[in-house]
Order: sequence, then C-alpha cells, then structure tokens
Amino acid sequence: MNCFERCAAAVNWEKPDRVPVIPQNNDMAMQEAGYSFIEGSHNGEMLADALIKAQKKYNFDGIMLGPDAAILAEAAGSEAVYRETDPPAIIGHALENLDDVDKLKTVDIYKDGRMHAWIKATKILKKEYGNSLFIISRADQGAFSLAALLYGMDKLSMELALNTNLEQVHKLLEYSLNLHVRFATVLKEAGADMVTCGDAYCGPSLIGPDYYKQYSFDYEKRAVEQIEKGIGIPYSIHICGNTDAIHDIWPETGATLFEVDHLTDIKSLRKATMGKTTILGNLDTEMLCNGTSDEVDTACRELIDFMMPDSGFILSSGCSMSGNSSPELLHTLVESAKKYGVYK
Ligand SMILES: [Zn+2]
Repeated sequence: MNCFERCAAAVNWEKPDRVPVIPQNNDMAMQEAGYSFIEGSHNGEMLADALIKAQKKYNFDGIMLGPDAAILAEAAGSEAVYRETDPPAIIGHALENLDDVDKLKTVDIYKDGRMHAWIKATKILKKEYGNSLFIISRADQGAFSLAALLYGMDKLSMELALNTNLEQVHKLLEYSLNLHVRFATVLKEAGADMVTCGDAYCGPSLIGPDYYKQYSFDYEKRAVEQIEKGIGIPYSIHICGNTDAIHDIWPETGATLFEVDHLTDIKSLRKATMGKTTILGNLDTEMLCNGTSDEVDTACRELIDFMMPDSGFILSSGCSMSGNSSPELLHTLVESAKKYGVYK
C-alpha cells in the first residue's frame, strides 16, 4: 500500500497494512523551514514547501494543511494580528452589533483575505504527490467557531445565556456555515482528498453540551451533508479539549472523521463511533514538546493497542503541535506506527 491507500483504508474502515500517521504540524513545519508566519501566511508556495519538507523529513502518510484559525473571519472583516513565529489570530470582530448581521460582506473566496494562499498550497501539494499521499485541507472554522470570531465569543455566549437576539444569532451561524462550505468547495476543486473544520468554540471546554445541541450540532450536521453529499468529499471535525459531554450526539453529525484532543476519553468516543467515524489523534501536544522518547513511544503503543485491530484510526497529535515541538519525538511517533501498528 502507498501512503494514500493506507490513509484511505483507515478512513473507509477497510484494513490498512499499518496505522497511518498524519500530524497537525503546520507551526513546526514553518519553523523548521525558517519561514515567518507574517510572510508565509499569505504565501501558498511557502506553506506548501514547509509541509513538503516536513513530510519528506519525517515520512508522514498524509499532510494536513491548516496553519491558522483566522483566515475566514479576517476575510469577512474581523481584525487579525500577525506574528513572526505564531500563526495569525483574531483580535477585533467584524460585527459590533448583531442587528448588523445582514450587512456582513459577501466574501470572494478567490480575492478577499488569504484564502488564495491555502488554495494555492493545496494545488501544489496535490501536484507534488498526486495519489501517493493523502491531502487534508482545513476549510478553516465551523459555523459556531466562525460566528464567535466574527462577533466575539464573550458577546455570543452572553446572547445564548440571556436568550437574546436568537434570530440574529442563527442568521450569523447561517452566514458562517455558508462561507465555510464555499471555502471547502474550492479546496476540493484545488485537489484536497478531505476537508476539515476547526470548531473549538463549540466544545464542552467553552460551552455546555445543551448549547452545543442547540446552536452547533445542526450546523455541523448540515456542513457534513453539504460537503460530503453535496460536493462529494469526506469531511472531518476538530473540537479542541475534552469532548466527553457530547459523545452521545457528536457522532450523529455523520462526519467521516473526528480529530480528537488528548483530553478526550478516547475509549468513550471510540465506543460511540465504532464502525462509523474514523478517529485521528490524540497524543498530548505538550508531551511532543517536552516529553521523552520513551514516554512518546509508550503513549503511542498504548493508543495503537487500544485502537487496533479495528480500522478507522490515524495516529496524530491531539491538536495543533507547537512550533517548538521536538523533531526527535516526532520521529518516535512515526516509528511507533511502524513498530506497533502493523495489521495482521
Ligand atoms: Zn485543537
């Protein structure tokens, strides 16, 4: 099996020859390539080059492109800050008043903001690897998280807590879903084998499971329907932190894959998703910076032992790895899949 076939087998619940590895290493790749995020965030060639260099150094089975969580919000009018060694982040919101939700701009995916860079990077990655490696491109944020970045999480939480302006809240979520799906569509056309969303703001670490059910679940489910059935590409959802409180409902979104953080009870999630949703994760990113090779090796072996012999598993970090992650420990992670993850 080549790397693409290995990942595709894991995603489709067929038996791969071994557990595939796809890290969330954009920050580290940029740092190792010596690229500044200020320039690189706007430059598809630099993004792709950093990820290709990292893939060739560590021999990953796939690449997940998605260096920051600000790209759609910024294109829609929120203010981003640029830093040399950290990805761009949102510091000001497009929407001051929810009554102005209808005035949010119609974003041009090709011309506004920096989406062109991720589209270009996806094209370069596909050209470089064809069908030999699995390319996942992040269509930035899911509806709830994008809404939080457009209006401010504190203000959005207040509206939900006080039950105010809910009609406008749903209009904002609709706007966000539409923008996310349009970006996903273009990334598919650019050559991505899977598209993904980050939806950190809707997780139990930030809002209660009741709010997730009321204000996020339907939008995630509709993203799955529109992207998987509508445009015909597998879709993944990443929620940071501990997701245990939504394991009864999250799998009902129907997404092909979940990117799972190390704080989540992987056994509970595996039980809720067995045979349906592939899991990508979930090593502690802190350990990949400051741990020892023995610790990483043991954590990988225990994780692989639990997830095998079933398919539906890709070994990865639980979240975006720090730029300062250890090269030695990343090698250990990749080697562990070869040592412990061979299917009989
Ligand atoms: Zn995360």
